[in-house]
Amino acid sequence: MKVNRNKLINVINEKWRTKNCILCGANNWTIDDKVVAPLSVGKNASIELGGKIIPLVAVTCNECGNTIFLNPLVINAIDE
Ligand SMILES: [Zn+2]
Repeated sequence: MKVNRNKLINVINEKWRTKNCILCGANNWTIDDKVVAPLSVGKNASIELGGKIIPLVAVTCNECGNTIFLNPLVINAIDE
């Protein structure tokens, strides 16, 4: 699964009215190239594998490290 950066950036520019970081107020972000997925946690804090994943792209504030995750499937920003 690959993220379509152009589509992602277009959606961010269209939807994010203000792009200032909620922690530090800066507008200086890096969009990661990779799609990642959180792991499901099972009994006794073990990792559960199998089933659907939630694809996420990290968008990180370069000033303070605050990281926002966007689901590229929801905004149609995936190149298969
Ligand atoms: Zn910040």
